[in-house]
Amino acid sequence: MSSRSHLLNDRTAETYRRSLTAGVERVAQRIARADRPFTGITPAQLAPVVSDVNLEEPLGDPAAALEELEKVYLRDAVYFHHPRYLAHLNCPVVIPAVLGEAVLSAVNSSLDTWDQSAGGTLIERRLIKWTTDRIGFGRASDGIFTSGGTQSNLQALLLARDEACRLAEKNSTTPLRKPEILPRLRILTSECSHFSVEKAATLLGLGPEAVLTVPCDRNRRMRTSALAAELERCESEDLVVMAVVATAGTTDFGSIDPLPEIADLCERAGTWMHVDAAYGCGLLVSRRRHLLDGIERADSVTVDYHKSFFQPVSSSAVLVRDETTLRHVTYHADYLNPARAAENSIPNQVDKSIQTTRRFDALKLWLTLRIMGADGIGELFDEVVDRTADAWRLLSEDPRFEVVTRPQLSTLVFRYVPHPAEGTALIDEVNLHAREALFASGEAVVASTVVDGSHYLKFTLLNPETSLSDIAAVLDLIAEHAGRHLTEQHGLPGRTDPSAAQSAGRAGGAALRHTQSGPELSRRAG
Ligand SMILES: *Cc1c(COP(=O)(O)O)cnc(C)c1O
Repeated sequence: MSSRSHLLNDRTAETYRRSLTAGVERVAQRIARADRPFTGITPAQLAPVVSDVNLEEPLGDPAAALEELEKVYLRDAVYFHHPRYLAHLNCPVVIPAVLGEAVLSAVNSSLDTWDQSAGGTLIERRLIKWTTDRIGFGRASDGIFTSGGTQSNLQALLLARDEACRLAEKNSTTPLRKPEILPRLRILTSECSHFSVEKAATLLGLGPEAVLTVPCDRNRRMRTSALAAELERCESEDLVVMAVVATAGTTDFGSIDPLPEIADLCERAGTWMHVDAAYGCGLLVSRRRHLLDGIERADSVTVDYHKSFFQPVSSSAVLVRDETTLRHVTYHADYLNPARAAENSIPNQVDKSIQTTRRFDALKLWLTLRIMGADGIGELFDEVVDRTADAWRLLSEDPRFEVVTRPQLSTLVFRYVPHPAEGTALIDEVNLHAREALFASGEAVVASTVVDGSHYLKFTLLNPETSLSDIAAVLDLIAEHAGRHLTEQHGLPGRTDPSAAQSAGRAGGAALRHTQSGPELSRRAG
């Protein structure tokens, strides 16, 4: 086949149809067949398969390439639709959005300018408006789709920084330049906020000392009394708080900072309030919308549709209450978006973005809303939040585990605790081991994190197909791996399952030390 036959155009529509259908068929088979979220393959095993592919020798036809793709990718990929994938904030996807993905890459609109997009631009703008309405922003609001929460946070903080500089210049009696203001800028955010806040501060030319951490209460929500004290301290030291970043759904705990109180403090201090709702944005369409009360008072908001709206990566947005603040990212290029286009009301979205060429990710959300509707998304999210509350009950009644907080959203941070209680180092070790062993088995995938210096395990539930019995089964697997490790490596007993523990408790207690795997124990004894 000639190279030109691979170009998608009027003469190749049939090839396009056949190619895509073959690809869809492969994926459908894989998804239908996956009996576990992962095969457990290691980087060392998979790397040679990929490096053995000779990129100088094309296969020529899609069927052969798809066949090859089975072993370099599809066979060992991590499958998020599987109910025992419980690790990260990457969601199972809804079919309307996947349809959108196929359409948008074939048409290949680029949303930087109207003359590369047309309707795509209007659809994106409509969805930005839809989102700001859900947030409760007024008519002056605006925003833009981005590649993810990291980029949304960066852009929001860039706008906050430039607003802070503008105000500092305006209020100064002596002429001030931006480089003189930058060292005085501070960002206040809770100890549980996302690391992209620090990354953004660095990218924005601020030093590592620019991000001040506000402590959280025991539910991992920002302590507003500490925030108030920190705002006062900054003021007395002639520092400029350019933004307070509140988190609506922390990555580890799903905790939501007290938004109304934070809004009051920001208003009093005249400080930009950013709400990072990368994870919690699903509440915008849920019956728990009240958990976001106060978000409408923010100056900017980050939402990740690719986390709690069941959209494929990537799909995110940054929203601002005052559209004029977006001018801080407006640059005109003669070849692309000349100033006269803006004067003639040609909607060039690049004027509001830190990207230039940009995907039409909004189409996925559009088709999702048009096919299943916002309530449909909200129902799915509510279901995982309900399930997490049930799972919390399960965990908190299970003597094998201890759980950190009662969740507001859909994560659970917990750890396996040996009995009798062992030193911290050993608890860390068995929990890390359990996670790795489980990952290597491919039977389930869970995450790990660190809380107050200790290693914990984490479930992030985003799949309504995950049942309580899936969760119970994964807990058993974790306890099995942890118990086996204790026995094999340390000669210690593992813990019983909860029902056995309860009967042991009724029988008088001490029987909690049980022999998980007899052969290993007797080997040690012998
Ligand atoms: C995931 C997450 C981010 C980063 O978003 P990406 O889409 O991964 O770039 C930011 N903030 C919070 C609270 C998150 O959970």
